[in-house]
Amino acid sequence: MSRLATTSNETQQRFNPFAMAQAQLDAAAEVLQLEPSIHALLREPLREMQVSLPVRMDDGSMRIFKGFRVQYNDARGPTKGGLRFHPDETIDLVRALAAWMTWKCAVVDLPLGGAKGGIVCNPRELSPGELERLSRAYVRQVGRILGAEVDVPAPDMYTNAQVMAWMLDEFSVLQGHNEFGMITGKPLALGGSKVREEATARGGMYCLREAARVLGLKTEGTAMAIQGFGNAGQHAALLGQELLGVVVVAVSDSRGGIYAPEGLDPRKVIAHKRTAGSVIGFPGAQSISNEDLLRLDVDILVPAALENTINAHNAPEVKARISAELANGPTTPEADEILHAKGVYVIPDFLCNAGGVTVSYFEMVQNAYSYYWDDKTVKARLDAKMTAAFHEVHELATRLGVHNRLAAYCVAVQRVAEAVRLRGWA
Ligand code: GLU
Repeated sequence: MSRLATTSNETQQRFNPFAMAQAQLDAAAEVLQLEPSIHALLREPLREMQVSLPVRMDDGSMRIFKGFRVQYNDARGPTKGGLRFHPDETIDLVRALAAWMTWKCAVVDLPLGGAKGGIVCNPRELSPGELERLSRAYVRQVGRILGAEVDVPAPDMYTNAQVMAWMLDEFSVLQGHNEFGMITGKPLALGGSKVREEATARGGMYCLREAARVLGLKTEGTAMAIQGFGNAGQHAALLGQELLGVVVVAVSDSRGGIYAPEGLDPRKVIAHKRTAGSVIGFPGAQSISNEDLLRLDVDILVPAALENTINAHNAPEVKARISAELANGPTTPEADEILHAKGVYVIPDFLCNAGGVTVSYFEMVQNAYSYYWDDKTVKARLDAKMTAAFHEVHELATRLGVHNRLAAYCVAVQRVAEAVRLRGWA
């Protein structure tokens, strides 16, 4: 094993996402000169729940799964955030993601707080029946702290509209009536919103369009590399091409990546992944590692996979002009400083990927008055929200001479702090 590989494995082991989220908040608290009591309150979740979920497996045995829900802060409204089904889920990761949801909702000025949840499991090893029973078991345990006015889950890594439908149904059984606004990212037939499926990527592409504008770059014909090819990565490939005319030259997933300097056809790569289970082996493309994809000489890099992807080891080698973060927490604070010094323009995660929760919020509004918007209306309202938030962050970063993530934190933390102060919590 090379020295570099050893070092980055060690970093991975020591990496604590919640410590990283707290360090990011601390930097903003200093710039804002936040009162110590408000700072202390915002450093920790308000409420968290850990549950054991007994599930009957297809072979007749019982398995006990571990589940989490962290409600980070509800000063601005009901808490909101996705549910992940992942084998590496930990309480500290869920805490970090819940904190980032708090800042995400605030930076786009939604009247919502932040939360996150998850189940430790490998969904690839579960049958549809086992997945359904696991989803329903989660709601039986956690449902008592959920609700349209309380805390509203949504899809995230390895969860989808079908999982939301089962959870909605289980919650309806517990309540004795439907409460469509208790969960978002639902199928359209069960009160979902148009555009929700592609909303995270679409919001990110609106930010990218604005970033190119302020930097005086054209996106037409510009090379883009995407790390991570789940919901956000796939839609970023399609929408980057459709809305901005970018050329997608590389994509990767957990098994590896592909590279074609003349450009890939996103539709064909998606079809290939659907049948082959991965992008690797796509005809006509070179294979490339996830690590090498980050170092490609492209104008636009889209980290759309896991946290802690761009760190002190590989940040010096990033060549992109813009990094549009669709993943949560892909860049460490050390890497932020390196990228900033190098002049890489980072559109920070909780701004760049806020399109998902923004359309979730639209879904809650539509559920509340049981009247549904057309495609055009959702897209126009999403564009308006993302564009306004982007410029607020960009202008503050320019004025303070700090990187975009710190500016985004300042905008968001200020809003949450004001609500906390007015409520008399600190
Ligand atoms: N899971 C998405 C996120 O991380 C969406 C959350 C939501 O819609 O509540 O932003």
